[in-house]
Amino acid sequence: MLTSGDSFSDESIRPTRVEVDLGQLRRNLQAIQQHVGPARVMAVVKANGYGHGLIPVAHEMVQAGAHSLGVALLEEALLLREAGITTPILVFGGIAETQIPLFLRHQLTLTAPSVEKLHLIDAAAAAMGITARVHLKIDTGMERLGIHYYSAERLLEASLQARHVCVEGIYSHFANADAADLAHARLQLARFHEVLSFYEKRSLPTPLRHIANSGAILQLPESHLDLVRPGILLYGVSPSRECPLTLPVRPALTWKSHVAYFKVVQPGHPVSYGSTWISDHPVRMVTVPVGYGDGYFRALSNKAQVLIRGQRHPIAGRVCMDQVMVNLEWGTAYYRDEVVLLGHQDEETILAEDLADWAGTIAYEVLTNINTRVPRIYTRTEPKPPALS
Ligand SMILES: *Cc1c(COP(=O)(O)O)cnc(C)c1O
Repeated sequence: MLTSGDSFSDESIRPTRVEVDLGQLRRNLQAIQQHVGPARVMAVVKANGYGHGLIPVAHEMVQAGAHSLGVALLEEALLLREAGITTPILVFGGIAETQIPLFLRHQLTLTAPSVEKLHLIDAAAAAMGITARVHLKIDTGMERLGIHYYSAERLLEASLQARHVCVEGIYSHFANADAADLAHARLQLARFHEVLSFYEKRSLPTPLRHIANSGAILQLPESHLDLVRPGILLYGVSPSRECPLTLPVRPALTWKSHVAYFKVVQPGHPVSYGSTWISDHPVRMVTVPVGYGDGYFRALSNKAQVLIRGQRHPIAGRVCMDQVMVNLEWGTAYYRDEVVLLGHQDEETILAEDLADWAGTIAYEVLTNINTRVPRIYTRTEPKPPALS
């Protein structure tokens, strides 16, 4: 992240950069909103906006009409407030007692996953003479955070007694909504409804109900309820290979660099650490200034491809901390030619899913792993005309 007072022009900024199309992010939010309506959208911007940049993504989502924002950590929420964002922000993660006053001072929405935590929130709010905004968290089959669905009545009862708490929402989280087999997700949804019947039985107003992540937005319309919580789908990426993108969302992020060095590698002269790559014929090779120190996984060594002059070329040898070598074979490239690591170039595309497959991980980790050493540049394109078939 460039935090000094220096201003960098596009020319002088590091050639290894991420370009984020805010116009595309906005269209993705709108496509999701249209699909789930009348449910509203809580835009999930945790983990630096899935690598796209926390603050610019959050501003875009708010302007595009998101109901609220979701983050994992108190610290992420505080950065949003510092940036002047006044929209409701739900923090999903567990809370430490010592953090509660900070949540309250900044009007952040807390997750109450147990009676004990609810009482701590209530007491802290009472001490400050204010009302805390809370969403109750029900565990319906993830075994991560939240009161078990079979003991949830205790938490709901306690929340009715808590004088300094306003229960604005009640939520749960799917473990397998991006799978081809939705049996477990359906079971979780049924358990959630069972918990929610508490309000109906007592003729009490039901708080905002939400459970749908990206997989459920795509595959389980009956789970949309009052609010949906898309993360990866907002960024135009599918939550899994088993879960096709059936909404008109597209990736908004391009990760690129340039050719920093060109040489010919002679047969028998190994490339990079560990000498894991060696050729039996002379090849043209370029060096690109990106590495695992930027979040370009070392597991991509000898596996990934990049795009140069509209052609795919493989990484040769191990990915270093700050550099990689790319084998052009007989192809051409010149100093400062653009190198696309993730995204389009001419007719070719490398998806986050492709990098995930090569590195043995998931697209979520590819995106969130691009670290803050890589400058983010923001653009805004007009919608592409629909492809002719
Ligand atoms: C991260 C997260 C989401 C978003 O998940 P995606 O699969 O990216 O849509 C939604 N809800 C909670 C509680 C989360 O932690």
